[in-house]
Amino acid sequence: MAEKATLLCAPLSASSVEKMLHQIDEAVAAGADLVEIRLDHLRNFQPHQDLEVLLKGRKLPVLVTYRPKWEGGNYEGNEHERLKALRLAMDLGVDYVDVELQAANDFISSISGKKPENFKIIVSSHNYQSTPSVEELTDLAAKLHATGADIVKIATTAVDITDVARVFRVIVNCQVPVIGWVMGERGLISRLLSPKYGGYLTYGALESSKQSAPWEPTLRDLLDLYNIRQVTPDTKVFGVIGKPIGHSKGPTMYNATFKHVGYNGIYVHLLVDDLARFLDTYASPDFPAFSCGIPHKEAAVVCCDEVDPIARSIGAVNTIVSQPFGQKLMGYNTDYYAAISAIEDALRGTTTSSNTANSPLEGKLFVVIGAGGAGKALAYGAKVKGARVVIANRTFERAKDLAELVGGAALTYAELANFHPEKGMILANATSVGMQPQIEETPIPKHALRYYAIVFDAVYTPKVTRLMQEAEASGAIPVSGVEMFIRQAKGQFQHFTGLPAPEEVMREAVLNKI
Ligand code: NAP
Repeated sequence: MAEKATLLCAPLSASSVEKMLHQIDEAVAAGADLVEIRLDHLRNFQPHQDLEVLLKGRKLPVLVTYRPKWEGGNYEGNEHERLKALRLAMDLGVDYVDVELQAANDFISSISGKKPENFKIIVSSHNYQSTPSVEELTDLAAKLHATGADIVKIATTAVDITDVARVFRVIVNCQVPVIGWVMGERGLISRLLSPKYGGYLTYGALESSKQSAPWEPTLRDLLDLYNIRQVTPDTKVFGVIGKPIGHSKGPTMYNATFKHVGYNGIYVHLLVDDLARFLDTYASPDFPAFSCGIPHKEAAVVCCDEVDPIARSIGAVNTIVSQPFGQKLMGYNTDYYAAISAIEDALRGTTTSSNTANSPLEGKLFVVIGAGGAGKALAYGAKVKGARVVIANRTFERAKDLAELVGGAALTYAELANFHPEKGMILANATSVGMQPQIEETPIPKHALRYYAIVFDAVYTPKVTRLMQEAEASGAIPVSGVEMFIRQAKGQFQHFTGLPAPEEVMREAVLNKI
């Protein structure tokens, strides 16, 4: 395991020396500890001339990589010239070079007796298809080290988020400094949790290159959103499980809140395909609890060992806690109270929770669009509060099942547009229609909205959805999913940490970012 804190490296892939120098300045300003200059991205690269300019008066330690096509890079030329350029970089005082396993022996023997004291060789291996078994990865690390590497780098590809756990195991058990990087969105946590497992360095993109992979963390994300400098082996890992997941503002809210209360935790996006496999791999004292999002809330009821009676009645779990020492998974639902209390407060004309005994929902006609996890929580909550519940859903069978469960009525999606038995109804959208990036979509035509007094949208990215805008224009009071998001997170925070939730901090963190 690395003895020092994990370094933050900015990979630079500009096409000219001038642009590369500009990127170095950007990396300095963003807080990188070192930059990786990808020589194979430079057009018309002139080793002597360009390396001197790039390395002269450098403002950060520099790692030079000249990746050949056969290892996933851009360089197609002569191998001898490639290694010569790396040696030149060494002679000019570069701090690290990255050389591929296949070329490592040639390179290392060619510098025998000439290696500067502080110069380090990273020997790397890239697998762009998959992540091998722990045994294979361990053998690979030994092979990389045997070349004479100072640091070994294992880059693999995540087909599933559970692949990353194998790389973490190898990093922790490796006797030499190691860089473990699992590529792809499903491998995101390999970058965020590198300091927890003692990785030598982790990569953070520059702001200007973020567009190429929107989920990719920038240096600023690592520092300001994930507080990566505070991550240590003892840091507890929390996160939101979902697919898709990039829209969730959970990391924004929880990481700011953890920092504010001094809790040693990190909260991450978890792109999960198979919930049972994920929980089997990760749920432990190190990963003590999760938020559960689309489309896993119903599957979570089955995956948990014990489910809180309200969550069981709803048929959806949005909070999974591994208790007491990772042996048992407990399931809760904090969505129900969050959504219903936000709607009640809007009906009462207040913005904060109220303890008035009678619910203003009593006797109201409450239409829920959606029969997934959020739809179930809203339908259950409305029923408990004495409303008459109607469910509309794209898949009508699911609307019927939910209506039967809560003693309500079911509508087809088409019928919803002309459903107006009375005025002053409540509408709750619990589908993902209108969520980023499909912000032009809406689950109900505008003309139908004039029969509603309150329109609630569970979607909270964007903060003001098309549905909310059209509801307001039609005379209804719009209630934002942001309010539900903050309130459900309040309940979750207590389950996660056992601490009282600092509501104002959580509110501010979310409102500042959406
Ligand atoms: P879910 O369990 O996957 O359910 C998704 C629901 O959306 C289903 O009813 C599905 O209908 C419907 N749906 C999906 N795409 C549709 C489309 N193109 N047209 C019509 N209906 C469509 O997801 P969930 O967990 O209930 O979440 C639903 C929404 O609520 C998401 O946008 C989520 O972000 C939001 N949410 C917000 C909060 C908050 O705190 N504000 C909390 C929870 C959820 P079918 O049954 O036909 O598939």
